[in-house]
Amino acid sequence: MINVTKTFFPSIEEYQAQLQRIWSNQWLTNRGELILELEDKLKAYLSVEHILITNNGTVPIQIALKLLGIGGEIITTPFSYVATTAAIVWENCTPIFVDIHPDYLTIDETKIEAAITEKTTCILATHVYGNPCHVEAIEAIAKKYNLKVIYDAAHAFGVTYNNQSIFNYGDVSTCSFHATKLFHTAEGGALFTKDTTLQHELFYSHNFGHNGPLAFHGLGINGKISELQAAMGLAVLSHMVIILRERKRVVDYYNENLDLTQIQTLKIRENTQWNYSYYPVIFKDETTLLRVQKALNEVQIFPRRYFYPSLNTLPYIDNTIMPVSESIASRILCLPLFVELDQNNLQQIVSILNANL
Ligand SMILES: *Cc1c(COP(=O)(O)O)cnc(C)c1O
Repeated sequence: MINVTKTFFPSIEEYQAQLQRIWSNQWLTNRGELILELEDKLKAYLSVEHILITNNGTVPIQIALKLLGIGGEIITTPFSYVATTAAIVWENCTPIFVDIHPDYLTIDETKIEAAITEKTTCILATHVYGNPCHVEAIEAIAKKYNLKVIYDAAHAFGVTYNNQSIFNYGDVSTCSFHATKLFHTAEGGALFTKDTTLQHELFYSHNFGHNGPLAFHGLGINGKISELQAAMGLAVLSHMVIILRERKRVVDYYNENLDLTQIQTLKIRENTQWNYSYYPVIFKDETTLLRVQKALNEVQIFPRRYFYPSLNTLPYIDNTIMPVSESIASRILCLPLFVELDQNNLQQIVSILNANL
């Protein structure tokens, strides 16, 4: 069986070597040695000033929304994983959707200003599939209207834009280290900001607001990760060169062998060093998508409809029509993309797909 992704497993010996340290320390969580080491290594790997590792990629969005004092209306993208919208609603804010760009699939920055009202406090956009939003335009709009910017950068591990980490953009960026993501800690995630004061605030918030054992700085939640997960992160991180090289191999094969006259693929934004995180294909209509999906499923190949449905149609949302996002969501399929996907698998996927267009 071939799924859309397959979690990268380091060797059990590599994981055990990290676990040995935990047993020696007799310390399982609360920012132990492995968590601190993983933060240091990630800071160097990503070239970022600050990082705060968290328990997943959703809680950090909620922490950022809470901490930046946000309420009211949040301008956001309808084309993302459900966590982006759910975090907004969970924090008692109102998502205001702005449609996406038909090629980049990120929020359409030219439509943001029309959606701003006196209740707007923030723009929460996703670098979907690791493709950067138009960060300069978004920053200019945020300045003009005095809005905060949060990027859901769950897919964007290792992406650089204009030769710097994409995590450097916005007031806060968040990432997910879930097992299905490019770099993982089984469950995990991170918060990024360039603002040292904000970094301190984020730090308190992810640990119940504790300021030492007896005092509290403010309201907080539990956003911490354990040493067991940090151990996985350390073991996986040492394989990033191979992970990226093998994912690029798969992406190159698809680019060279799929019938690109019949399908649309992701347009990566200029000046981006991408991370090969997903391979979405957009069919001419949903019927074609369903035909391709059925043919692949028959031979135990399971691509995923990332992202369906368009988030403006969720049952707990006051639906507004988002023509581009709804159209793309109905026609987009993410093909299998992982390190061990071999040449035979790739040939089979491509020939079935091309034959069913
Ligand atoms: C995976 C994902 C999340 C959530 O991350 P978790 O670590 O599973 O909580 C948030 N946003 C996007 C766009 C994602 O793909």
